[in-house]
Amino acid sequence: MSTSKHPRSWVISANDHPDFPLQNLPFGVFTRPGFSRRGGVAVGNYIFDLQVAVEADLFDGAARVAAESASRGQLNDFFALGASPRRALRSQLLSLLDENSPQRERLQALGETLLVPMSDCQMHLPAQVGDYTDFYVGIHHAMNVGKLFRPDNPLLPNYKYVPIAYHGRASTLCVSGTPVKRPNGQTLAPGAEVPAFGPSKRLDYELEVGVWMGQGNEAGEPINIVDAGEHIAGFCLLNDWSARDLQAWEYQPLGPFLSKSFATSISPWVVTAEALAPFRSAQPERPVGDPKPLDYLFDEQDQSRGALDIELEVLLLTVQMREQGLAPQRLALSNALNMYWTVAQMVTHHSVNGCKLQAGDLFGTGTLSGPQPGQFGSLLEMTEGGKHAVELPTGETRKFLEAGDEVILKARCRREGEVSIGFGECRGRVVG
Ligand code: MN
Repeated sequence: MSTSKHPRSWVISANDHPDFPLQNLPFGVFTRPGFSRRGGVAVGNYIFDLQVAVEADLFDGAARVAAESASRGQLNDFFALGASPRRALRSQLLSLLDENSPQRERLQALGETLLVPMSDCQMHLPAQVGDYTDFYVGIHHAMNVGKLFRPDNPLLPNYKYVPIAYHGRASTLCVSGTPVKRPNGQTLAPGAEVPAFGPSKRLDYELEVGVWMGQGNEAGEPINIVDAGEHIAGFCLLNDWSARDLQAWEYQPLGPFLSKSFATSISPWVVTAEALAPFRSAQPERPVGDPKPLDYLFDEQDQSRGALDIELEVLLLTVQMREQGLAPQRLALSNALNMYWTVAQMVTHHSVNGCKLQAGDLFGTGTLSGPQPGQFGSLLEMTEGGKHAVELPTGETRKFLEAGDEVILKARCRREGEVSIGFGECRGRVVG
C-alpha cells in the first residue's frame, strides 16, 4: 500500500511527469487515426479515452453523467454541468487510475483502446467558444505599455477600480500548433501624416492565462463574487498575438480591433480548478494608497484564496535555431500572481451589468508580466517598443517576430509538499 500523502498511478509515465501526473487530470478534445473526435483526460504520456471508458461502464452516478458529457467532440456540455459533477468525475478518475485501484487489471486489459499514446493523437480546441473576452489585469504589463504610449500618465484612473477588458474575436481562436499568418493592415509610420497599408512589421506575442467558463448565468442575473469560482471550469495558456503597429494606429478611442483579431492561440488541455486548488494563494496586497475594490468585487474568501501561483514561461525558437538543433531560448519567466484582479473578480465584473456568460466562453487575463526585466510577457515590453534588440544564441536579434519564429508558452505549478503539475504547451509559428 502507498503510504504517501500523494497517490501514484499504475500508468507509470504519470508518476513524476512534468505536466500530467495523477494530480492534474486535465480535459481535452482529441482525434486519433480512424476514430471520431472525442474528449479525453491527459495522464502521463497517454490520453484516457472517455468514450471508451463510458462504453466500458467505468463510472456511476454524477461522474457517469459528467464523463458522458466530457466524452463528446466538444466540452461545452461538460462545462455547462457545473463544478459538482466535474468533481465527482475527478474523484472516480483518481481512484480508477490509482496504483492500488481494485479495477487496475480490468483497465489494463483494455490497453491502448482506453489509454491512447498522446503521440498518436491530434488535439483540437476543447470547446466551441461563443464569446472571447480579453482582460488587462496584468498590472506590470499595463504600467510598462502605458509608459510607452503615455509617459506622464501610464495607468488611466479607472484601472484600479475596473477590471479592464475588450471583446475579442472567438472565430480566430486556434489550438496550439496552428501556424499564425502575419496580418496586413493600416500603420502610421513615425512622422507620417497618412497611414500605409501592408504587412505588420511589429508582430508580437502576449503571455496570458486563459479562463474557461463553466455554468453560465441568465441575462440580467449577475454572478455574485461569492459564487464566481463555481462558474469557472478550468484554465489554459493563451497567446494573444498582437500587431503593435496596427494597434498603435487603431486603438483610440475604442480599443484593439484588427491588431488582435487575426489569431489567438491556446493550449489544448483544460486544467481544472480542482487540480489548481493546492496552488491557490492570497491575492497580493494592493500597494498603499490604492483603493479597495468596490463592494460587488470584494469577498474575503476570494482575497485570501483567489489568486493562482502559476509559473509562466515564454520561449522562442527561430528557423536558424531549429536548423542548428538549438533548444528554444527563454524570453521570460513570470507568474500568474502578477494579476491585479482575481479571476472571480473578472467573472463578476463581466456579468454585473446583466451580460450573459455561457459555458465555453473564454477569457484571457491580459499579459502577465512581472515587475523585473526577464519577466516581461511581450516583445513590446522587452524591447521598449522596439528600442533595443533581444539577442539570440545564433547571433540573431529580434525587436519583433520574424517569419518562421515559433513562440512557445509553458506553465508550471510547484509548491513545497505538493506534486507539481503543468499545462502542456501553447505553440505557434509565424508564417510570412
Ligand atoms: Mn492581451
